[in-house]
Amino acid sequence: MSSPSQSPVWHPFTQHALTPAMKRIVRTDGAYLVDEDGRAVLDAISSWWVITHRHRHPKIMAAIRSACDTFDQIIFAEYTHEPAEALAEGLIRLAPPGLAHVFYSDSGSTAVEVALKMALSTFHNRGIPRSRIVVMEGSYHGDTIGTMSAGERGVFNAAYGALLFDVATIPFPEPGREQETLDAFDRLCRGEAVAALLVEPLVLGAGGMRMYPPHVLSELQRIAVRHGTLMIVDEVMTGWGRTGTLFACEQAGITPDILCVSKGITGGALPLAATLCTPEIFEAHLSPELSRAFFHSSSYTANPIACAAALANLEVWRSEPVAARIAALEGMHRERLAPFRSDRRFANVRLTGTIAALDLDVSAPGYLSDVGPRLRAFFRERDLLIRPLGNVIYLMPPYCVTAGDLDRAYAAIGEAADMIAGTAP
Ligand SMILES: *Cc1c(COP(=O)(O)O)cnc(C)c1O
Repeated sequence: MSSPSQSPVWHPFTQHALTPAMKRIVRTDGAYLVDEDGRAVLDAISSWWVITHRHRHPKIMAAIRSACDTFDQIIFAEYTHEPAEALAEGLIRLAPPGLAHVFYSDSGSTAVEVALKMALSTFHNRGIPRSRIVVMEGSYHGDTIGTMSAGERGVFNAAYGALLFDVATIPFPEPGREQETLDAFDRLCRGEAVAALLVEPLVLGAGGMRMYPPHVLSELQRIAVRHGTLMIVDEVMTGWGRTGTLFACEQAGITPDILCVSKGITGGALPLAATLCTPEIFEAHLSPELSRAFFHSSSYTANPIACAAALANLEVWRSEPVAARIAALEGMHRERLAPFRSDRRFANVRLTGTIAALDLDVSAPGYLSDVGPRLRAFFRERDLLIRPLGNVIYLMPPYCVTAGDLDRAYAAIGEAADMIAGTAP
């Protein structure tokens, strides 16, 4: 099948045979993407969840410009640099108490990959034979072989199944059945020596914006501690205010052994990731023997310009009323979600912080149901960037979004349900 596009670019998560030629974006501004025809598209999903405050936040862009006068990439073994040092200190100050070391990488997938490796080498270096990883059903942790192994299996990774390693899975804590999740985890930990539990806190993102309450997270940690199992929390999506607090862990009052952050760490301006860990994890790798060092690196580890962008992001959190903006956004979502709760075309109307989601009640849910592409096209015609996960429609806008922007997005969601109902077989 020939590609409808003349471009040599191969886009992510894209079936090019089914995709019309893509519009070029020529500029970003606040909550908007401006395309080549001059149309302003509301970025209601923060460009895949990375843009927190707004596109091109002036302080972050200024910090990038200024860093360019002094730095490009610098080798991050043998040498260090001020942006990375200052950022590490800033991250430790903001993160749940007890995390003391920062390992840099460049994407969410690598932050989680690093976390899994850290957990395994901790046991390896201690001479304890533990390598079992436990994950939550429906999770997404990235697209490398390691993180796909930890994520939900399905059409996205079917081709790679032969290379994916086995993990144990606990059920998603459905409302009213949270204890089943906790019991399953406890049972697994009793049955074998589990190295680590890896979870997305409070919201499972790519798995369909499934939400669960903070007490499940704190109970999971209690069980992990009891069995000497490390807890890895993947805050790649939930971090930087998305769930209403800077980190979702705060709502559960927990400090995991390992915490992964990326996406909003630079406010979304540049790629950067960090894996934070406790002194115990770091010290398991301290030794006069090189063989116990942590063997992981990306060429662009701790890119100084990206670190400068992240430092500016921390400054935005310090100097601007970000928490108030997030609370206001949550309130605006709640108000606009209310009518959908009694609308029988929708189910599971839900909200955690800045993330609102609802399921379109269709007969064939799932990502590959053709509802997704039809909805996307419907929203695109209305200059709204909304990408449903199958029949799950969600909004995760930058924090600068206005009430008027949200009115437009929610009205379109209602109209989209009319469209699907009107043409359904
Ligand atoms: C996006 C995401 C990742 C992967 O991040 P990339 O930067 O795309 O590699 C990992 N975990 C979660 C929870 C995510 O949402």
